[in-house]
Amino acid sequence: MQRITMKFGGTSVASAVAIQQVMEILRRHFETGSQVIAVVSALAGVTDLLTGAARAAAEGRRSVWQEAALQLRDRHAEVLQALVRDGAQREVAQGEVDALVAEFEGLCGALEVVAELTPRVHDQILALGERLSSRVIATALRAAGVQAQQFDATQLIVTDDDHQNANVEFNRTQVCIDRVLLPALERGELPIVTGFIGRTPEGATTTLGRGGSDYSAALIAAASHCNELIIWTDVDGVMTTDPRIDPRARVLSQVSYQEVGELAFYGAKVLHPRTVQPVQERNIPLRVRNTFNPEHEGTLIASQSAASATVIKAVTSVSHVGLLTVSGSGMMGVPGIAGRAFLATARVGANILMISQASSEQSFCFVVLDDRAHAVQHALQSEFTGEIEHRLIEHVELLEDVVILTVVGSGMRGTPGIAGRVFTTMGAQEINVVAIAQGASECSISFVVEEDNHERAVIALHELALEPVLAK
Ligand code: ASP
Ligand code: MG
Repeated sequence: MQRITMKFGGTSVASAVAIQQVMEILRRHFETGSQVIAVVSALAGVTDLLTGAARAAAEGRRSVWQEAALQLRDRHAEVLQALVRDGAQREVAQGEVDALVAEFEGLCGALEVVAELTPRVHDQILALGERLSSRVIATALRAAGVQAQQFDATQLIVTDDDHQNANVEFNRTQVCIDRVLLPALERGELPIVTGFIGRTPEGATTTLGRGGSDYSAALIAAASHCNELIIWTDVDGVMTTDPRIDPRARVLSQVSYQEVGELAFYGAKVLHPRTVQPVQERNIPLRVRNTFNPEHEGTLIASQSAASATVIKAVTSVSHVGLLTVSGSGMMGVPGIAGRAFLATARVGANILMISQASSEQSFCFVVLDDRAHAVQHALQSEFTGEIEHRLIEHVELLEDVVILTVVGSGMRGTPGIAGRVFTTMGAQEINVVAIAQGASECSISFVVEEDNHERAVIALHELALEPVLAK
């Protein structure tokens, strides 16, 4: 028997009208005899609303969080009003919504008193979005005669206590899914599970990072041995580039796990970057599809990528980054400089997105998000005070307003001339390339250019994904 996990993102469950589409999709699969698990996001905008309210509460801005409470109640009540005819059923669900909104108000009130938003309380507040959406969706399905059952993923996904970006404990998660979720499928139910959230072994609620519902769905699909994972979203699939930059962008019919991993890491908003790992491990095909255009096949993501005449399949970019360069002729042959630089970077909580070093060893550079870039520069300067004094290191420079561009395509491996073509294209556009990196996987090439050249560079590179590269 087919067993499918389906994840529905915020826009797919934004309103009663959108949820009706979701219900149609679920019903179609469920009633043709598949076992289906649905993982849902919060209604669009709710997670942002909750974060804003939590911050406001800690700053004593009461009217902001009280207004948020009203919005939460209204938006969920509206869905129930539209989709649940039966008064008694609706009242039960409305009672659940009211209890969760009361929990929200209680937490915000407490934040006002302590005047400090800890990551732990932040997670507890953010989790309310998915706890609310899953309940109203499950009720709407039951009202439509589908045997749906709501589950909080706090019962299913066990994590460490790294709040707001928790790491999953796979073995414990597997045990919970075997014990709680699989029996529901055996009973013929359609579980509606909260995305985004988990729980520590001690019982604190955690979240998996913004956009984390994709990852929740992948974890659940893997642990419940699904035949397929479908991520339902608001675009037709994974695209060759960002259509807001180049409207010629088109949907890719098939990409590999590795390719989509590079795309997700380097800025394509289509999937949470951790999504691929659990399904890749169990070789479960993943499909990205559009709730608002369910006839479209979407993009299939599996171990093999479709052969592509263009070799380069997609182009992505990450802006709001800064490039740090550590340079000095005295660095040559001195072990440990890069190691110390990366540790100093980690200590100020900055994540490194790209690294490059030339073999002269006279400098190396790396890219971090620009909100941490100055902190990293200071950390490097103090880490290397001695080396700077002795002129072993001459500069710790920060270049701001840059962007990482990445071209992706697994066919690059073993195809000579792709990098040449990419950089010739930049040359023809008179765009200066500041730094270059290629992973040993040879599935992508990343490089840094100035933000001013961002769109022009993407459009020029995207040409390469539209036309056969080697034809020339
Ligand atoms: N609701 C969460 C967010 O907006 C998780 C998700 O939708 O994936 O980040
Ligand atoms: Mg998302």
